[in-house]
Amino acid sequence: MPKDTYTEFANTGLGRKLTKALGLPQPAVLRRYDPEAPLIPGPVVVLGEGEAADDVAETLLRWDLDVRRHVGPGSISASERLSAVVAVFSTAARPAQLSEPALGLGSLLKQLGSSARVVTVFRDPAGTADPAQRAARKGVEGLTRSLAHEMRAGGTANGIMLEESLDLTAPSVTAALRFLLSGRSAFVSGQFISVTSTTGALPQEWVSPLQGQVAVVTGAARGIGAAIARTLHRDGADVITVDIPAAGEQLASVANEVSGTALQVDITASDAAERILEHAEQHYGRLDIVVHNAGITRDKLLANMDLGRWDSVIAVNIEAQLRMNEAFLASELFSRTDSGVGPRIVSLASTSGIAGNRGQTNYAASKAGVIGMVSATSPALQARHGSINAVAPGFIETEMTAKIPFATREVARRLNSLNQGGRPEDVAETIAYLASPAAAGTSGMTLRVCGQNLVGA
Ligand code: NAD
Repeated sequence: MPKDTYTEFANTGLGRKLTKALGLPQPAVLRRYDPEAPLIPGPVVVLGEGEAADDVAETLLRWDLDVRRHVGPGSISASERLSAVVAVFSTAARPAQLSEPALGLGSLLKQLGSSARVVTVFRDPAGTADPAQRAARKGVEGLTRSLAHEMRAGGTANGIMLEESLDLTAPSVTAALRFLLSGRSAFVSGQFISVTSTTGALPQEWVSPLQGQVAVVTGAARGIGAAIARTLHRDGADVITVDIPAAGEQLASVANEVSGTALQVDITASDAAERILEHAEQHYGRLDIVVHNAGITRDKLLANMDLGRWDSVIAVNIEAQLRMNEAFLASELFSRTDSGVGPRIVSLASTSGIAGNRGQTNYAASKAGVIGMVSATSPALQARHGSINAVAPGFIETEMTAKIPFATREVARRLNSLNQGGRPEDVAETIAYLASPAAAGTSGMTLRVCGQNLVGA
């Protein structure tokens, strides 16, 4: 992985002093997921009244966490550091009622330890037509986003947005809560996970949430795709790795590493999905998860763009996915339901597809296309008790971004709330979470893994 020398320096004794004195960015070493380590290292406070907050507290207690409910003056000593605060905003009916929970949350922030988590839980603003109530719910969104910018020492703030009738014991609420508290979400900040249905099955063991599942990952020979294959394997899945024949050697080595199988196929071929289905049938007799990761860039300003560059990016990044999804959804192999959960698809978008990026009109068109495709395909997956979601990475430390000229790369790296680039594993962890049976009640969404990149949208 490319080196981030500045972050290394900023975390030395001298570096800490210097960056502070000069007012420079102070990127922290982020707490990342370790299946052997506790979910969070210290106490978690649950803020909020009523049944909803009680449900959250009970879930956290089941995970053997040190849960605090009523935090008054003196209940946490000044030397004690909190690992997380979960703030349940279930009752705000108008913006004027936000002050008490917001300031209650604010009073705890100085006690947060490093890589701490704030998770707000609230109802989807679109679920109410009442102007005051929708304003209050949107208000929680606004405060969460701003708080994410204010978090220090590698801390993040994110929200869980609930469908109107859903209660907090729904499996995918539990899955979202666990994801956001854990090191899996190290590079996710200022984002919202919506839970829209009670679909979803919690794993027997949280360390192997993909046990018994078969997944295919396209573009798995290197970069983010290889990281996805490793993460899905670590989480218990059998993995089929797919890439173009020219990447055959690298592909075989990734497949070996994850004790999976390799399939050389160009995803733009008209029979690509059929070949994947055949391979899955023959080797595993099932297919539960598809990760559309393969993607290319052919950057040029639009004024200088040619048909070849435009069409190849659209063909690989979105047209192939549309065609393959049709074939997958028509097949019986990809339609089975286990413990009430059906097939899942996760697709790679990009923050360029959200905010645009100079020189990337073709790429942004394809990645915005992925976001549209995912939301329009969601009803078909939900009808099968499955899900489809997209993940939009921001600046990720890969061979690709290592080629960006130094000054531009430094700016891109620091221009986010965590003041650093993400790692391929950060994208992979989010994909593994969305691909898990537990998260099947979340569908149609695009989740950014960008450290709250300041991309202008
Ligand atoms: P990469 O170029 O390192 O890897 C892409 C892989 O896809 C390669 O192994 C390549 O051979 C394969 N591939 C390309 N065309 C294919 C085809 N037609 N059929 C089968 N395989 C094909 O890229 P990466 O940085 O790992 O990116 C992976 C995904 O993440 C892409 O969709 C990319 O757009 C997206 N993404 C990356 C970043 C980043 O910062 N690296 C940011 C946002 C989004």
